[in-house]
Amino acid sequence: MAKIIDGKEISAFVKNRIAKEVEEFKKGGKEICLAVIIVGEDSASKVYVANKEKACEALGIKSLKYALPESTTNEELLELIHKLNNDKSVNGILCQLPLPKHLDEKLIIENILPEKDVDAFHPVNVGRIMIGDYDFLPCTPAGVMEMLKYENIDVTGKECVVLGRSNIVGKPMAMLLLHSNATVTVCHSRTKNLADICRRADVLVVAIGKAKFVTADMVKPGAVVIDVGMDRDENGKLCGDVDFATVSEVASAITPVPGGVGPMTIAMLMQNTLNAAKKQL
Ligand code: NAP
Repeated sequence: MAKIIDGKEISAFVKNRIAKEVEEFKKGGKEICLAVIIVGEDSASKVYVANKEKACEALGIKSLKYALPESTTNEELLELIHKLNNDKSVNGILCQLPLPKHLDEKLIIENILPEKDVDAFHPVNVGRIMIGDYDFLPCTPAGVMEMLKYENIDVTGKECVVLGRSNIVGKPMAMLLLHSNATVTVCHSRTKNLADICRRADVLVVAIGKAKFVTADMVKPGAVVIDVGMDRDENGKLCGDVDFATVSEVASAITPVPGGVGPMTIAMLMQNTLNAAKKQL
């Protein structure tokens, strides 16, 4: 049976580290502030935003929530973003995605000041990740790297396979592994011989959004398996992209869902907010 990589434990460790630094800021009379914008009534987005507010509160970071109606226009949203860009008391700005269809996500993201872009979605920050000279990392891949570090899993020279090539998970994940000297293969829906490639992996990171897609026969015995997926199984229960029951019999270490990568994502958002404040102050 594989070792369970416990995202709750590791995120608590990270948050504790952040809380101490926030405390130091406060002693110096400074407050760290994250502005969170949500447009419309998407119920999943509301839950994510509420969790982000809770995390801020727990760590002593001030959060400002802007809940805008579904009818908000690009111009109105841009006006708010420009106001927050110019507000020196705001260190980080996060616009919860997806936005309602009539809004131009690309335009909105590109208007957030790169130094306040705590999601690291702005093209400037994406470019910096590519060259390995960054202030912010996208929260989910950064959370995965933090988990590997905490578990003393050194990827240097290892075969790492990333399943999925999205801009928010797969691609930056591959870059971070590459910066850590792994040999990286990225797979996607057109990849041929997917199972063979997965079986080569010393570290397999899966982010495709397909419930229990990766089965034990696709995993090399002793591999480390990181499951980013957040899916629903046939009974509507939360599960990952990896068939945990069978893969945990083959892998040496594995993240569960829930309680794996998920909790790390918010912890890393808090880290980015702290990093933004440090840089600005
Ligand atoms: P996405 O934007 O839908 O991208 C999915 C990727 O998987 C695409 O690159 C797609 O390939 C690839 N893919 C789909 N089916 C495949 C298949 N059968 N074989 C190989 N590759 C396949 O998804 P995402 O935003 O990266 O999210 C992926 C999963 O992670 C979802 O379950 C999401 O809920 C979860 N997630 C979790 C967190 C967290 O905090 N834990 C954060 C973000 C996302 P193509 O490019 O060829 O279409």
